Amino acid sequence: MQNRFDRKIIIGLILATTLPFLLLFINLSEVLPITNSGDFWAKFVFITANVSGLIGTILLVWSFLLGIRSLVLLITPDLIWVLKVHKWIGKYGLLLVFVHPILEMIYYLEGIDWLFVPNLSTETQVYITVGRFAFILFLVIYLTSAVLRSRLKYRPWLYIHYLSYPMLFLTFLHANSIGTYLNKYLGLKTLWFALLFLFQILVIYRIVEWAGWLKPKYKVISKSKPTENIVILVFQPAGRSIKAIPGQFIFMQIKHFGESHPFSVMEFDENTGQITIGIKTTGIFTKKMEYLDIGSRVMFSGPFGIFTREAHNDKPKVLIAGGIGITPFVDVINKFCNDQTILLYSNKLSSQILFHDKFKTLMGLNYTAFVTQEEGVNKSNIVYHRIDKDILLRLIGGQKLANNYQYFLCGSPDFITSMVDILKSNKVNTSQIYTEKFSY
Ligand SMILES: Cc1cc2nc3c(=O)[nH]c(=O)nc-3n(C[C@H](O)[C@H](O)[C@H](O)COP(=O)(O)OP(=O)(O)OC[C@H]3O[C@@H](n4cnc5c(N)ncnc54)[C@H](O)[C@@H]3O)c2cc1C
Repeated sequence: MQNRFDRKIIIGLILATTLPFLLLFINLSEVLPITNSGDFWAKFVFITANVSGLIGTILLVWSFLLGIRSLVLLITPDLIWVLKVHKWIGKYGLLLVFVHPILEMIYYLEGIDWLFVPNLSTETQVYITVGRFAFILFLVIYLTSAVLRSRLKYRPWLYIHYLSYPMLFLTFLHANSIGTYLNKYLGLKTLWFALLFLFQILVIYRIVEWAGWLKPKYKVISKSKPTENIVILVFQPAGRSIKAIPGQFIFMQIKHFGESHPFSVMEFDENTGQITIGIKTTGIFTKKMEYLDIGSRVMFSGPFGIFTREAHNDKPKVLIAGGIGITPFVDVINKFCNDQTILLYSNKLSSQILFHDKFKTLMGLNYTAFVTQEEGVNKSNIVYHRIDKDILLRLIGGQKLANNYQYFLCGSPDFITSMVDILKSNKVNTSQIYTEKFSY
């Protein structure tokens, strides 16, 4: 319920800071630098160009703000939802940014080359050219993020995404100097200066954050390697600490000005503040976890996420994990498991199953491990098969009981998609299904 309110605040703020610009349409004739006041369409194009530029810039600022995790955390821990809004604005809201230069081009009866070819002949042209550079950067960011994202690797995409910083700065500079409305209305000009100031402060804040100086520090106090490619690390706060509820995740940074990566808090000890994390060490960053020794220091930020919040009670629940997707469920099981808690845990190989004995002891026959790429004889807690529609129904006690449970799914995007399909084919209401993908 709380997060619905958080969401309303964010949506409300976005609307409250963009919609008022539509009022600029009221005063059509006053702002126009032309005399042919009878030409409604010319006016309309001109004003739409300007208003779309203003709203587009505010949406760019929102995109920027929603990308700052620590700032978002002041309003909501629901980072996954915020990132969805960030993506939505990026994909659809920012179409307005295209409208601005295209309508300007139409208004001034220019050709398409006008959008891109620099012209430094007058001061006004210099500032229009600043806008051209901002537009070219915007095109690159838009194409790589909204159109080609799934075809690009994560890091090239991320580095291109950082171009949004110079792009936003150039956008402010462009509008500040030649924006028709900004030069007409003092209030608007003041707002623009305030936004530019805020932007500069936040860029400095981002750099300080990237340095890791503001983040809580932790040190490794225990390390184990239960299976190949999995490492379990226990961290002790070395100063300020983070309090996580089951299912939440933190971002970990291992060096100043280094990358930050999300990991679910597998266990949180309220007395000591210790945080346990289980990591599959198969990528560029996660492989480095293998080399963290006892005493190594890292920086955390968070806690983020609201996944499993609806499981923090004694109601019937089914937890479905794929591979390392077991991590957010460990503390849910530690703290909220009862005889109506069912765990289905799928791995390719039996050697990859984590905490098998612990789950057997705690959950008995309510726990089943699935092994999908190995032959074997089924036992009470191990099935050598994929999770499928029939097996799921059998484990929850039949179709009639399907909607008695809440379902929590965690793993790779493909795993989640196939599990959601299975649940839907068992006529489970989508409102009963909660998911966390280990990717975004
Ligand atoms: C909410 C959440 C919780 C997670 N919890 C765990 C966990 O408990 N244990 C675990 O082993 N893994 C977890 N992951 C996955 C883990 O964050 C990625 O596997 C890791 O960041 C990959 O980085 P890499 O450089 O090792 O791999 P790479 O091979 O370089 O990247 C593999 C993929 O991981 C994703 N990725 C890479 N860097 C980032 C980043 N900085 N932020 C977000 N995604 C990124 C991209 O989709 C990329 O294509 C979680 C992911 C999310 C989103």
